[in-house]
Amino acid sequence: MTPFSLNGKTALVTGASRGIGLAIARAMHEAGANLILAARSKEKLDVLAAELGARALELDLESSESIQRAAQEAGDVDILVNVAGINIRRKFEDYTREQYDKILQTNVHGLVELTQLVGKSMIVRGHGGKIINIGSLATHHGLPWLSVYTLTKGAVGQLTKALAAEWARHNIQVNCIAPGFILTDLNRAMWQADDMAEWRKGIQANDRMGDASDVAPLAVFLAAPGSNFITGQVISVDGGASTTMKWPFTPPE
Ligand code: NAP
Repeated sequence: MTPFSLNGKTALVTGASRGIGLAIARAMHEAGANLILAARSKEKLDVLAAELGARALELDLESSESIQRAAQEAGDVDILVNVAGINIRRKFEDYTREQYDKILQTNVHGLVELTQLVGKSMIVRGHGGKIINIGSLATHHGLPWLSVYTLTKGAVGQLTKALAAEWARHNIQVNCIAPGFILTDLNRAMWQADDMAEWRKGIQANDRMGDASDVAPLAVFLAAPGSNFITGQVISVDGGASTTMKWPFTPPE
């Protein structure tokens, strides 16, 4: 057993067109996986696929038809990485039904439908498999103006545990990575403000901004044989944001 190798394994990564999904795809390529990159931006994916010797699949998690077609075209998959996700920041009382539905559909319903289809095919094939969901700091914490996103990321964390329990009999390990503050297109504008960086330094033990490449190695490990006895876990990659606090006190010499 080569604990960190993905040689001979096929990995389907959603949200692979940029950000955390692209970093995971690159790291899995380095670890030897055959990659299937999925997102809505097909032209972008085609360029990346050529670079990584991968296949590109158009996937819109807001469309059941698109999800079914992508799952069909993907064929045999050993590793499913559910990265694609969106966020809309608003006061809870101001969310429109349309915004609520869009976030729920992308982050939960679409993920569920794809995981059902890919998981069913893993079960029928009988070779086991790995499912890695991307949660968030919001899987653990409540933050203001993120209520609907938080609701979806809590659901992703709980689905991870339930599926780990249910699919262990098929040798499918299901885990969730909960990234903290990672600079991507999802939040770049928000982090421009100086007081945001100061606030982060005050609450996070390892106080720098995270990068997508900080998240990718854990995804490789959770996809590789070395993690075969790890399932149902929500593992944070957040510089300590979910587990530590800072305070101004220093003990006397
Ligand atoms: P990002 O740069 O905005 O990337 C989002 C990805 O999701 C893109 O590849 C996008 O591709 C894809 N996507 C969006 N809507 C889609 C849809 N309807 N169907 C298919 N693909 C769709 O964001 P990111 O920061 O890398 O986020 C990736 C994941 O990490 C998300 O689940 C996010 O919630 C989670 N996360 C991020 C952070 C952070 O600080 N950045 C922290 C915790 C968790 P197309 O536009 O090409 O479809």
